Amino acid sequence: MTKTLAVLGSTGSIGVQALEVARLSGIKIEALSGCTRVDIIENQIREFSPRIAALADEKAAAELKIKVADTSTKVLSGARGVEECARCAADTVLNSIVGIAGLAPTLAAIDAGSTLALANKESLVTGGKIVINTARERGISILPVDSEHSAIFQSIQGCRSKSQIKKLILTASGGPFFGKTRAELKDVTVEQALKHPNWSMGAKITIDSATMMNKGLELIEAAWLFDMKASDIDILVHRQSIVHSLVEYTDNSVIAQLGLPDMRIPIQYALTYPDRAPSPVGELDLAQAAALTFEKPDYETFSCINLCRKAFEKGGLFPAAVNAANEKANELFRKGAIGFLDIERAVGAAFDCVPDVSDYTADQVFETDEAVRRATERLLL
Ligand code: NDP
Ligand code: MG
Repeated sequence: MTKTLAVLGSTGSIGVQALEVARLSGIKIEALSGCTRVDIIENQIREFSPRIAALADEKAAAELKIKVADTSTKVLSGARGVEECARCAADTVLNSIVGIAGLAPTLAAIDAGSTLALANKESLVTGGKIVINTARERGISILPVDSEHSAIFQSIQGCRSKSQIKKLILTASGGPFFGKTRAELKDVTVEQALKHPNWSMGAKITIDSATMMNKGLELIEAAWLFDMKASDIDILVHRQSIVHSLVEYTDNSVIAQLGLPDMRIPIQYALTYPDRAPSPVGELDLAQAAALTFEKPDYETFSCINLCRKAFEKGGLFPAAVNAANEKANELFRKGAIGFLDIERAVGAAFDCVPDVSDYTADQVFETDEAVRRATERLLL
């Protein structure tokens, strides 16, 4: 069980919930980081008294430094400051930064020898091979926080050999636009896309759920975390978000993890693993949930899922490219600059922007990210 913790992205949706779990479990906070939200991190510093805190935004960090001058917390700034928080040598570093900005801190936490509780799926999507290989070399555990991956992780406890796993089945809520046609999707608004039926999350992942790009990113995340081929990972739409994912074994037994859709369960499991502890989340009342339904996704209407599958199968820098196109297009959609279907158009176009290489360095991932963001802007604006 984790005794000391750093929360990167502490001002966001997962970060705030992680601190709630830490508060209830009495876990000591060593470091906190955010980007722009000064007031939230100021309150967190006053409550948790971390040794260090950082804001990636330099101006916000300067403001924070003045505000918490009366505390013993050292305030750092910029991407370097965030990386220093990742290197604070806490038992566990929980990375809940959004986007590829989480990749360097993920690598820093592994390098510093901390267990990594990973919500930032973009780290694995963009730098999967480097992250997994470095963690393996250093003997570092990566514990999933993403609910589907936590469900799979929980469902493989007690499995003695990976060869006994036949298939992973990721469940998907289907997002706010499940059942809509492409014609209907053309003019959906940002406000409609931000209304997720079951989960309350940050804006970027909520839009990713509406396009179902989130499930594509999660497919890549699962392939890296559990060392599976993309062809052995299925996706099922499950509107109720009660069954968080399933594992099918060679004897055709299927084991799943169920619970209310509340991220504090997977967050807590990553912090108490291999133990369990009482949770603030309510009990699952299956009689009240009544029907649990499952169906195949509409891959033609929500083409981002298969674009991610293709990117993972092609390997190299292609996953980083589709991620970059999505991050840029997702941001432009939220600003009202492009239409909803332009997001998948950008993701599809990303394949033409990168060289086909089998091996890559972290620097190449960051260069690809920048190049594809620029190409996406040229394509869409
Ligand atoms: P939020 O947008 O709510 O929070 C993102 C956090 O990242 C904030 O603390 C933000 O700081 C910080 N941040 C933003 N940009 C940077 C940057 N350039 N450098 C350093 N920090 C930065 O997102 P979520 O909490 O919803 O999601 C976080 C991650 O967890 C994502 O990868 C998401 O896919 C994943 N995830 C989220 C789930 C959820 O339920 N929310 C479920 C499963 C996975 P600030 O706010 O101060 O600007
Ligand atoms: Mg998820």
